[in-house]
Amino acid sequence: MHSPTLVILAGILAALVTTVFYAVWYFNKGIPGLRLWTLSFFCASVFCASLLMRDHVPEVLLVMLTQASIAMVAYFCFLGSRAYMGRASVPHGYAASAIAAVMAAAAYFTVVQPQMGIRFALAGSVSGVCFLLTAHTLARGGFRNVPARYLFAIVASLHGLFLLLRPLLFKLAAPDAGNGADAGMVALLSQFVVLEATLSLVLMAFGALMLTNEYITRELRHLAEVDPLTDVFNRRAFLTLLEKAISSADRTQSGLSVLAIDLDHFKKVNDTWGHKGGDDVLRHFVGLATSCLRNEDVMGRMGGEEFAIFLPNASSEGTRAIAERLRAMVASQPVATDRGPIGLTVSIGATQYLPGDSSDALLQRADEAMYLAKEHGRNRVEALALSRPS
Ligand code: GH3
Ligand code: MG
Ligand code: MG
Repeated sequence: MHSPTLVILAGILAALVTTVFYAVWYFNKGIPGLRLWTLSFFCASVFCASLLMRDHVPEVLLVMLTQASIAMVAYFCFLGSRAYMGRASVPHGYAASAIAAVMAAAAYFTVVQPQMGIRFALAGSVSGVCFLLTAHTLARGGFRNVPARYLFAIVASLHGLFLLLRPLLFKLAAPDAGNGADAGMVALLSQFVVLEATLSLVLMAFGALMLTNEYITRELRHLAEVDPLTDVFNRRAFLTLLEKAISSADRTQSGLSVLAIDLDHFKKVNDTWGHKGGDDVLRHFVGLATSCLRNEDVMGRMGGEEFAIFLPNASSEGTRAIAERLRAMVASQPVATDRGPIGLTVSIGATQYLPGDSSDALLQRADEAMYLAKEHGRNRVEALALSRPS
């Protein structure tokens, strides 16, 4: 197969991928990185198109255009990966200077001192580094949790390494290429270069689509599991996690405690401060509660102003201590608003998992303890089936 045929194929693929990505981005503008990846594939199309214009454009212009477009492919890919990972963009000055320098050097080695080998090395330099940076940015979060990121990172790093090392490959495989010898070998390697670039393009397009899918799936799961007002688990997700925690407590014979928490006289807060004031109080309470929990503790909004927390591996004393700390913290830290502080107290029921308890039975016992706290005057902690402090 001749190289021009391969380049035409690569160009058609790049244009198709750009179109698909543009369409995906158009309908999903909130997906971070997608716009930049679309630009990256667009630059790949420009690169292929410029290679095909070889016979119709002055050589120096062509060389500068190909150098710039190949560098931009990788730079946009890197920017897309940063956006996807929620990281701030980078100052564009460095990349702009590097690309300008590469273009100037390429022009020099075309007009003043024609050196195809050096131009070839220049073309892989900025892009090679950017692809390696892309891989470094994406390879986070654990392969089992986010495999698409690692697959993308593997392709980007292999492609980046190949771009940086391919001049060496030419040197090794065809040491006399400069004198016109080894022409056959150079042609073969050139075809391989185009093939490798095409394959990387297709794999990275798959990778970017997989990342898009990963993002959408994560967003949907978040919407299905998390309460939008307070950002803690909703009742259904909390129950699922509690059931898992019960199985784990059974298996490992470890402790598991549950707190049921209800905000006191919350109706009055709403009546006095309005619904928005009430919402602020709910968020404030969740902020305080999460600040006194450990990483493994799980909190859920069970409905209205009722919350539950389960504490894996917590002793009965530990459970009492956390409940009491939370109660005291809420009582001593009113919610600051424009119209003055809103005082708040909570009633907390604490209990412990007993072998054979279902998640419903466990939560119901915590609720009963919480109602005891209400009966006994609110702003207090009551416990059921929690061993007494010795
Ligand atoms: P108690 O001390 O006995 O728990 O009294 P209470 O007023 O807290 O209890 P009650 O169950 O009578 O009132 C709960 C109120 O919570 C009623 C409802 O309007 C309010 N509420 C439920 N969900 C929300 C919400 O998402 N935002 C706001 N602002 N209020 C809510
Ligand atoms: Mg209530
Ligand atoms: Mg209440």
